[in-house]
Amino acid sequence: GDHEDFMPEDIVERPKITFQQVGGLEAVKDQIKMNIVYPFQQPALFKSFGKKVGGGLLMYGPPGCGKTYLARATAGECQAHFISISIHDVLDMYIGNSEKNLHNIFELARHHTPTIIFIDELDALGASRQQMLHHHGRMLTNQLLTELDGIDSNNSEVLVLGATNSPWFVDASLRRPGRFDRILFVPPPDLEARIEILQLHLLGKPIDAIDYARVARPMERYSGADIQAVCSIAAERVITQVMKSGKMRPIRTEDLLEALKVCKPSTLEWLATAK
Ligand code: ATP
Repeated sequence: GDHEDFMPEDIVERPKITFQQVGGLEAVKDQIKMNIVYPFQQPALFKSFGKKVGGGLLMYGPPGCGKTYLARATAGECQAHFISISIHDVLDMYIGNSEKNLHNIFELARHHTPTIIFIDELDALGASRQQMLHHHGRMLTNQLLTELDGIDSNNSEVLVLGATNSPWFVDASLRRPGRFDRILFVPPPDLEARIEILQLHLLGKPIDAIDYARVARPMERYSGADIQAVCSIAAERVITQVMKSGKMRPIRTEDLLEALKVCKPSTLEWLATAK
């Protein structure tokens, strides 16, 4: 088809991960189930209760707390295809041609139904952002509105999830009914969630009996991505020692505590500006 000239098929993923691989965020997962997964699986049931099917959902929150990861897992839950794009990429890669390419992305989605399209950095389109007052940003916003309005909400096999770190910059026109009209905060993980994320990222690796609560307690304001980094640094520490000593050993609680010292939380700045 026409779209193949512009859009490589390999941007279409088939995610295997589900909500089980996403630590914490129980309230957010419940919201996504009720708004996306269940209506997707049982559209007739939802309609019989007068519930809306389809429409876009906007996730916001500090970087690294799982917005992209959740979107991918949502596609996994729905056994849908997944296309992930960011506004900056669409603007950068196809300068002057970004509307056509956004259209081609939606075309590609329609060719692979069911599909979830994930659009990151939606704030980059915000009219209140000075750099975006220029022509390309405005035209791309209009194209996105056209695409969103073109999705048949009664019979939709294409769903759109949006994400931003700066919801206050997202163009108001994108927030109207039928577009990104439902908003979800994706917060930094609480203690229980941090323990789960630690366990998820250490799964299958050589580990000792780890005191997860002791490691997770001081990790307030660490994002999921920060926790992943801590696990990775702890593993490097062990590998270095195994290489030096020639003696195998597992990751222990103290390796994680040491890794904490060099790995600081990254959500503080966001939480400060968001207030
Ligand atoms: P950004 O705003 O920077 O795009 P994001 O919120 O989309 O960030 P992700 O890209 O989803 O963040 O998260 C980065 C990585 O951190 C993920 O690939 C995943 O490995 C890990 N991660 C984040 N949150 C979780 C979580 N709740 N459970 C398990 N892993 C997580």
